[in-house]
Amino acid sequence: MEKIIFYEIKETLEGKGLFAVCDVPAGQKITQYSGSIVAYEEIPAHWINHCMWMETDRWMIIESDGRYINHSCSPNCEVVEGNYAVTTRDVKKGEQFTIIYNRLRPQDYYDYEKNPEAYQWDPRWTFECHCGSPECQGVINKYKVIGNVGPVNFVPETDTTYDSLNKTCIVQNSVTGRSVIAKCDIQKDEMFLKCPVLVFPEDQWPLIEQTALFHYCFAWGEDGKLTGLIIGTGSFFNHSYTPNAIYKKNYPGHYMEFFAYTDIKKNQEIFINYNCDPDDLSPVWF
Ligand SMILES: [Zn+2]
Repeated sequence: MEKIIFYEIKETLEGKGLFAVCDVPAGQKITQYSGSIVAYEEIPAHWINHCMWMETDRWMIIESDGRYINHSCSPNCEVVEGNYAVTTRDVKKGEQFTIIYNRLRPQDYYDYEKNPEAYQWDPRWTFECHCGSPECQGVINKYKVIGNVGPVNFVPETDTTYDSLNKTCIVQNSVTGRSVIAKCDIQKDEMFLKCPVLVFPEDQWPLIEQTALFHYCFAWGEDGKLTGLIIGTGSFFNHSYTPNAIYKKNYPGHYMEFFAYTDIKKNQEIFINYNCDPDDLSPVWF
């Protein structure tokens, strides 16, 4: 079978480039990157801008036509499994094929977060981009995570709230309104929920008092002059003088943290004492 060539190499103001010789649909393999695989230290200086990171300390010195594929911040190709440049959208005859050079693939994101030093940007790669796309980054001088990081690459350590623990849910009934329910067994002293707190300045309390927010707000800050509103599940705990959970205000982080005060069984409702101290029997405000 005759191999169809979709590109021609042409000179551009910024060196050679690969251009479409016909209309090319999305998903078409254009060319395969190939060349020697070496450690970073072994890349000859004059090849430094024609190499591609493969994995850990394995770099490809690109010897195939792929080395002429130029950068665009809004490219029409990407490099996929097998080191093929593949079109990501329809490309018209005469258009230049482009990829994004400083893209950090979503599958590398987890590693990048844990080990940013391994993703050093060599200053010799830096250049000024003239791709003209609305997304143009200008000077290309660092890696950029592009694409949906997605659940597979979810980084629990970077999550600032614990809603993702998925240990609670809100149920609704006509008697008590909304209730927070344990979705699994929770052990005494375990932090099972951490919610962000929206903080209002002191002078807004007289306004908040006149709204439905009144029922969800509480004093915030060391001197209690600010007003806090929990965003998320934490706003829906019902009150009990014999609670099975307690909460702690994290002022610097603007969080409310919830801990089990007793063992809590799956499907049990979780209660807090609105007075904060679980044994404080003072009347609550409603
Ligand atoms: Zn650009």
